[in-house]
Amino acid sequence: MVIDVSCPACWQPTSAEIAAWDGEVEQWEDCQVCCRPMRLVVRLREGELLAVDVDADG
Ligand SMILES: [Zn+2]
Repeated sequence: MVIDVSCPACWQPTSAEIAAWDGEVEQWEDCQVCCRPMRLVVRLREGELLAVDVDADG
């Protein structure tokens, strides 16, 4: 699924593709606007998005 997030570095909306559909997933994405890495922690339950945490690198 594709989720919408706000980049923690530039605060622009961006999106990330999440391959999982259940459980907690940690994933690194590069912002599509400023190209800086961000860490996503996504919680899902059977394809339903429960929570998204976004942290900047470091
Ligand atoms: Zn950014």
